[in-house]
Amino acid sequence: MERLVILGSGPAGCAAAIYAARAGLKPLILAGMQPGGLLTQTNHVENYPGFPDGTTGFDLTDAMARQAQRFGTTLKFQAATKLAFSPHNNRILLDDGTELVAESVVLALGSRHRLGLPDEKQFLGKGLSYCATCDGAFFRNQSVAVIGGGDMALEEALALTAFASEVHVIHRREAFSATKILADRVLAEPKIRIHWNCLPLGLEATETGRVAGVRIQSTTSSEETLVSCTGVFVAVGVLPNTELLEGTGILLDEQGYIKLRDAARSLTNLQGVFAAGDCADPTYRQAIVAAGMGAKAGMDAVHFLSETDNQPGQK
Ligand code: NAP
Repeated sequence: MERLVILGSGPAGCAAAIYAARAGLKPLILAGMQPGGLLTQTNHVENYPGFPDGTTGFDLTDAMARQAQRFGTTLKFQAATKLAFSPHNNRILLDDGTELVAESVVLALGSRHRLGLPDEKQFLGKGLSYCATCDGAFFRNQSVAVIGGGDMALEEALALTAFASEVHVIHRREAFSATKILADRVLAEPKIRIHWNCLPLGLEATETGRVAGVRIQSTTSSEETLVSCTGVFVAVGVLPNTELLEGTGILLDEQGYIKLRDAARSLTNLQGVFAAGDCADPTYRQAIVAAGMGAKAGMDAVHFLSETDNQPGQK
């Protein structure tokens, strides 16, 4: 029986572990399919307090995991495949068929990229990517396109200027929704060409099935054009990783985010099950917010376990 199992190893999961471990719980983190979460794909993290010169998403999440381990957290590089919640008896089936039983659980499942093109999946690994940090170097001196106008899209575009000869940003409106500092940098970058008011219709393929370009349509004139490129980076938002929770009794909102009982805390509708980070945050989805939510979840789990430990008849 584990006292606390944390699902997810991004900022929320690691912060929960640091707080719970320092309270003596010896938590177990299941690092999941993407250890460190989506943040590992961010090349430049400039808004996380404590790093005046910035850091990378990988370095930041790696440091958080090491900090959690230092206080007695165990990190397992496995993913949960099935969950069954019951007070003090939460069953977590792992991808190798083994089962964990936990008195309390923190859900820090994070988020994943939303799809933005009808034929997107067939081009994965054939020129289509969601991560400039990971795949940008494959497109050295080539023309690439980024789809989206939020923080992620603009960060991808800026990161790609280090490799690509030309970066097309395809955005469906006439203004970015990204932070001003990123928008200003993109507008000043000579390698970036912005296609305002353009919807991505689909991808054109080479004879070998690789990306040859993005077909776009102007929302003002309806004219269709082809943006020729060998790489496409899709950054049209994120979705919470909560499919695993279907049928478990955890309440989700209409967008699939975990509903918290009280926005200021980390309590879900189930006793002893807490949630933190992107999977429970439809609004901010920032690393610093996820870490703060994780700290609350760690403290809420400690409080829950100490209260039940002190009840008569409990160990
Ligand atoms: P986002 O902020 O939701 O932006 C999504 C962008 O994609 C918007 O420009 C949106 O256009 C566009 N879009 C959505 N669906 C589309 C479609 N079907 N076709 C074409 N375009 C589409 O998502 P994000 O940029 O991925 O960021 C996710 C979260 O992480 C955000 O909360 C963001 O602030 C955060 N983040 C922060 C940083 C940072 O602070 N440095 C870095 C990365 C991410 P509209 O504007 O027209 O809706």
